Amino acid sequence: MTLSFRFGTVGSPIKTPKKPGGSVGAIIFSREIGLDALELGWVQSVRVSVETCALIKETAAAQDVGVSVHAPYYINLNASDEEWPKSRQRLMDAAHYGNLAGASDIIFHPGSYFEQPSIDVLKIAIPRLQGCVDELRATDNPVILRPETMGKSAMLGSLEDTLEMARQIPGVLPCLDFAHLHARPGDGTVNSYDEWSTRLEQYGLTLGDSALEQLHIHLSGIEYGPKGEKNHLPISESDFDLDGLFRAMSAFNAAGRILCESPIMEEDALLMRKTWQVISGQ
Ligand SMILES: [Zn+2]
Repeated sequence: MTLSFRFGTVGSPIKTPKKPGGSVGAIIFSREIGLDALELGWVQSVRVSVETCALIKETAAAQDVGVSVHAPYYINLNASDEEWPKSRQRLMDAAHYGNLAGASDIIFHPGSYFEQPSIDVLKIAIPRLQGCVDELRATDNPVILRPETMGKSAMLGSLEDTLEMARQIPGVLPCLDFAHLHARPGDGTVNSYDEWSTRLEQYGLTLGDSALEQLHIHLSGIEYGPKGEKNHLPISESDFDLDGLFRAMSAFNAAGRILCESPIMEEDALLMRKTWQVISGQ
């Protein structure tokens, strides 16, 4: 049965067999256990051959598994003029090889405020990101760049930041990490049906209701303190209100992909899938 969301993991599922292994093995294994999305975790660097990319793309198409890429952590849209070219290259490499591997979406951490106001940082970040999209389109690369909502209040990547980037740049949409959105205020808020509904409404009003049908979501339990995120947890060991979130998403007719980032990756991805089926009635 087709659900409104595809489900998968960020990085290969833990129990991916050694052979064939790698991303190809992870795609085949995901399909075997009932998952239909995979985010390639190119989080340290992009080191993949053109041949491997072709094999990933072919396998994903044959298995009907939706592929995305998590770009390297070391990207900062607010880097100094000196550092920016290196950050930019990492993002462009992820987008180039990701496209060759059949990925539709490239997810990245947008960077740090360096204690500057968000509005000033966005004035630097948005033109830089626009330049990246322009260059991709000039080379016929159609990937969507997705700045992720971040779990620490010192990081560029509030919901408002990512919505503003997406509003101003066609080809950019947020990656909604709901665990990060819950952890970011650091006080336990943003974890109820009403709070999630408010945010989904804001998303639809800013980007149009059709954007709610192509959400890209990261999800896990999370531990947090006053400054936000500490570490990811299994859903069942956390305070995360998965039912409240899914009820809100169902009420907004949301669709897209949900990638699990819990330490028990595929186990929680399957739990999320099951929970979504029950709550959405699909
Ligand atoms: Zn991330």
